[in-house]
Amino acid sequence: MERTLVILKPSAIERSLVGEVVKRIEQKGLIICGMKMMQLDEKILREHYAHLVEKPFFPMLVASMTVCPVIVMCLEGKDVVEVFRSMTGSTNGRKAAPGTLRGDFCVSGQQNIVHASDSVENAKIEIARFFKPDELFDFKPRNIRSIYADDEI
Ligand code: UDP
Ligand code: MG
Repeated sequence: MERTLVILKPSAIERSLVGEVVKRIEQKGLIICGMKMMQLDEKILREHYAHLVEKPFFPMLVASMTVCPVIVMCLEGKDVVEVFRSMTGSTNGRKAAPGTLRGDFCVSGQQNIVHASDSVENAKIEIARFFKPDELFDFKPRNIRSIYADDEI
């Protein structure tokens, strides 16, 4: 099944929103196949946000992402990249639809609580960036047939 990378950003950690995000992931039926806390630094953020390095806000973004540890998660599910991006909502919390994580829990374009991979290709690269192979677990919950129809898995 497909996998995606999620980062609970410092804005989620400091605002005690970890449980809210994890709860929605679990309630949706997505499988958590890796999860750990880590301190990010500018080096890894220059890779992770390579598309933004030249933007004027990049130094502020690095500062906001390194202010405290983050929690990185690897999620598994059918079409999980698209599913979790839609649960995340638009980048700017003020524009994100109610019902999405950003729409419900933040009002900022930068302090927007979660990162979600934006394509299957990028998800593979991002998962390899943040997790060692032995930190990921290949298992299916025993109630998988209550989560998906037989022809979906
Ligand atoms: N960001 C920002 N200002 C902007 C655009 C993005 O501070 O004008 C930050 C924000 O935290 C965002 C991250 O950079 O989540 C990555 O930007 P991207 O465009 O990839 O948005 P995302 O994929 O997170 O929705
Ligand atoms: Mg992005």
